[in-house]
Amino acid sequence: MSGSALFETFTRAPLAFDHGEGTWLVTDKGERYLDFGGGVAVNSLGHSHPHLVSALTEQAAKVWHVSNLYEIPGQRRLGERLVDATFADKVFFTNSGAEALECAIKTARRYHFVNGHPERFRIISFEGAFHGRTLATIAAGGQYKYLEGFGPKVEGFDQVGFDDIDAAEKAITSETAAILIEPVQGEGGIRPVPTQSLRRLRQLCEQHGLLLIFDEVQCGIGRTGKLFAHEWAGVTPDIMAVAKGIGGGFPMGACLATDEAAVGMTAGVHGTTFGGNPLAMAVGNAVLDVVLEDGFLEDVQRKALLLKQGLAGVADEFPDIIEDIRGTGLMLGLKCAAPNTKVNMALRDQHLLAVPAGDNVLRLLPPLTVTDAEIHEALDRIRAGARGLADAIAAAAAK
Ligand SMILES: *Cc1c(COP(=O)(O)O)cnc(C)c1O
Repeated sequence: MSGSALFETFTRAPLAFDHGEGTWLVTDKGERYLDFGGGVAVNSLGHSHPHLVSALTEQAAKVWHVSNLYEIPGQRRLGERLVDATFADKVFFTNSGAEALECAIKTARRYHFVNGHPERFRIISFEGAFHGRTLATIAAGGQYKYLEGFGPKVEGFDQVGFDDIDAAEKAITSETAAILIEPVQGEGGIRPVPTQSLRRLRQLCEQHGLLLIFDEVQCGIGRTGKLFAHEWAGVTPDIMAVAKGIGGGFPMGACLATDEAAVGMTAGVHGTTFGGNPLAMAVGNAVLDVVLEDGFLEDVQRKALLLKQGLAGVADEFPDIIEDIRGTGLMLGLKCAAPNTKVNMALRDQHLLAVPAGDNVLRLLPPLTVTDAEIHEALDRIRAGARGLADAIAAAAAK
């Protein structure tokens, strides 16, 4: 054995956290870190939220797992609540984002199959997309760094440039089944898709009989200040994948669809052992209790503005470190002028956690429960980190 017993697939920071409290993570040595990474947009309500802890522990004392051979009341309830709050009529629960996408892709293909068009199975996606790490979702994402070495790319995915709607239109053929897009690209570098573009995609889908699939795994569940990011554009999809924030840290995901889009997903054609288990459903319902509370999302919008304006000030002060601020809601990106990994390290030295993304961006994804005081504290730390890095770069250049 060389090194650790674990696959070397992750480059981990030399930090181990013992527990969390709201927006804070505390190491095994008692050092406190302000968590603006949020487990990559997962800890939507921070750490150890009392309502989530009691939902999980109460369910844990009752029953953990029964399988989808039986009724699961929490699943039925969460499904109904998601349907009430969205465009959807039907929900399938999964354990992860990639599985939610797999279900979305299969739902789109089955729709055309049962409508007499088995030849329509291709899906158009966009450069910079990230849809997960299964064989189908790396093909959908289309990024060479994730496809290399894993054999032939799963057939049926065509990619066009980011926000290139003309190219998407040209890519439509008699074999196209659907268009798949993140309303706000996460891993790709916090790139919001313009409202006009989402509307044009909706029109293209109408014209050509295609299904529109939104991947809201990262931008959904209140992250942008609406329950789902596409609400800002006033456009609804036929199918949507959700995960990350919906479990508040408990692994779960969901694929939502209209009755029409889900027409092919009949008994036995798809399944899961763990998806929709009682523990996940208890936590998912508890997350919705909080996020759907009156005024909660309005407060997210207000805090997001406070953070974004503060960040714009820091970017003005340190243009050689931070070029620009992008994103919406509490899904913000520092477009870095210095390498984003260096900026990330400089912030970590200030005990502030963030997450690197593509396009030399550093993501800030604080819990939706972050306080004003914590936002001010984070801005102070980002400013100190940027100053430290600017000084270090100047010192190196003077040598
Ligand atoms: C994280 C992510 C996924 C994959 O989710 P996993 O739970 O890691 O499988 C898919 N799509 C988007 C937009 C994501 O951010």
